[in-house]
Amino acid sequence: MPTSGRSFDPTRMTPPPGGPSVDYRLARRAALASLRQGSLDTGDICDAHPELMRAAKNIGEACDVVCPVCSHSSLRLVRYVYGPDLKANNGRVVYPEGWLNELASSHEQFTCYVVEVCVDCAWNHLVRAYQAGTKYGGIPPARAVRSPRSGRG
Ligand SMILES: [Zn+2]
Repeated sequence: MPTSGRSFDPTRMTPPPGGPSVDYRLARRAALASLRQGSLDTGDICDAHPELMRAAKNIGEACDVVCPVCSHSSLRLVRYVYGPDLKANNGRVVYPEGWLNELASSHEQFTCYVVEVCVDCAWNHLVRAYQAGTKYGGIPPARAVRSPRSGRG
């Protein structure tokens, strides 16, 4: 369960969120609090799956937030889509981002997971999950994650 503070496993089908969109920031905060309190150590939470690490390094979307564990600017966002309706694309990393629009307009329903991954210390956590597909209007939210505005182009 990604909500328990454990890492996201891209190879395993994660149960869809209870609503059209679920924000995991509270769970993230709880995981980080456990780290500070000592009930979890970095080995428990900085254990990104090799596939997730590879995706983050190669196609991860940079974000302006620093890693909550190592404080490096090495956090990347990776999107995964899951759903039986996706067939061969079930469990695939979404890249480029525009591909998500194509999937959303050609499949009835699937779940998109946004995971943050630190390519430095391997911290990883589910940030958000949402339902997309023609059932939901065919167009996913413009931005899966509200990223802080960056002045840099
Ligand atoms: Zn880190």
